[in-house]
Amino acid sequence: IRIMSSQSPFIRDKAYIGGKWVAATNGGTFEVKNPATGEHLGVVPDMTESDAVFAIKTANEAFQSWKSTLARERTLLLRRLDQLMHEHKDSLAKLISLEMGKPIKEAKGEIMYAASMLEWFAEESRRIYGDVIAAPTKSKRLVVIKQPLGVASLITPWNFPCAMITRKAAAALAAGCTVVVKPSEDTPYSALALAQLTEEAGFPAGVFNVITSSRSNAAALGHVMCTHPMSASISFTGSTEVGKILMREAAEGIKRVALELGGHAPFIVFESADIDAAVVGAMMAKFRNCGQACVGANRFLIHSSIYDKFCSKLADAMKSQLVIGDSMDESVTIGPLINERAVEKVEKHIKDAVDNGASIVVGGDRNSRGNNYINPTLLRDVKPSMLMCQEETFGPVAPLIKFDTEEEAVSIANDTRSGLAGYFYTTNLLQAWRVAEALECGLVGINEGLVSTVESPFQGFKESGIGSEASKYGIEEYLEKKTICFGGL
Ligand code: ADP
Repeated sequence: IRIMSSQSPFIRDKAYIGGKWVAATNGGTFEVKNPATGEHLGVVPDMTESDAVFAIKTANEAFQSWKSTLARERTLLLRRLDQLMHEHKDSLAKLISLEMGKPIKEAKGEIMYAASMLEWFAEESRRIYGDVIAAPTKSKRLVVIKQPLGVASLITPWNFPCAMITRKAAAALAAGCTVVVKPSEDTPYSALALAQLTEEAGFPAGVFNVITSSRSNAAALGHVMCTHPMSASISFTGSTEVGKILMREAAEGIKRVALELGGHAPFIVFESADIDAAVVGAMMAKFRNCGQACVGANRFLIHSSIYDKFCSKLADAMKSQLVIGDSMDESVTIGPLINERAVEKVEKHIKDAVDNGASIVVGGDRNSRGNNYINPTLLRDVKPSMLMCQEETFGPVAPLIKFDTEEEAVSIANDTRSGLAGYFYTTNLLQAWRVAEALECGLVGINEGLVSTVESPFQGFKESGIGSEASKYGIEEYLEKKTICFGGL
């Protein structure tokens, strides 16, 4: 295997199918760049339909023996993979920073989160239970067993290039499925690094496969993954728009579908809240990953009695804590956005807000470091009708909206087709229960700005998704129930 760059031992120019490092059959490649500098990192195969079909067939062949491995064999392999991720933590984190720009400290955090999925599902593979059910007649006995679905097709985004793969793949592999991963065109190297580690861990050939393509071939690969008869399921994390396309395509073959789509999280600060704690939570929920997380707070709803105080404390925290700079520097907290298109969207949202009466408290413009850098921005006097309250901004922008009553806050919070995360701060116990139950979203943080852990399920309401990842529920997405009826007793 040719090492393409001196920057990381994990940068390579081949995809991974059936335990082999392969080029696209037509020889096509595409370029991967560092979003911080625009620097060329390397090229990877620009695969097409026939490569995707080959990967699925190969995974299906591997499934024939993988499905009957002992749960404990899968446990040991996943555990070994977890160990390897820990051993290579620093270089895997560096790879994430190189290909998508997140600060190195956060990239290390992502690797730990990604590895926690391997550790968790290593154990869960031994906790797949069935049922014995009371039969309706004396001559029968009823048993329910669970079996792996088959080939799990996974399509993943660039914002958490490693963790979004392991959150799906660890569950699939633990269940006894084989996988074909199509990573984002922006971040193929983290997926290929995982492939390399599965090989080192001793996974049989064909159990974990990675196919890469440019944006222009993504739809063709996605189509094969959603419709090929040997692909048993499609699991996707990314935009709601693409999620809808995939769900439509999967309908043709009645495939199992799991979707984690866009969010539009409200972050509510009630009158009784500990404002300093709310500021700490807001910093976490907003500026992690430079605002590029689907659970990121997108709309701040602040009670009118504490609005000015919260605004000035958040402004102070942003000025004193956020450091823009080289992603490889441990003290940096804000890196570039993924590309210029992302920066343009953020600018459009800021302009729309300002044109309609909002004012800029902090930031509001690009940073001189480079084209993809935008200064962390705080806006006040934002109205729910403004563009940034209608669409996910996906950048480091905190818009503050004022409210007077709990009903009003909940109504604004729920006035969206998204329903992934929601956060609120209060010290009123009854309000805490009421609002937690009233928010139409799959993850709720009460006096907490970080809600995603391996132990608890991750899911969206409404157009934010279908199915759960992580936790004891995550493995169910990759299992089929089977009723066995014994008769003639
Ligand atoms: P983002 O806008 O954040 O890049 P996307 O939903 O566009 O989010 O991309 C997430 C993943 O979906 C990437 O791996 C991308 O290549 C893939 N993708 C984009 N368009 C399609 C499509 N039409 N069919 C299948 N996959 C797609």
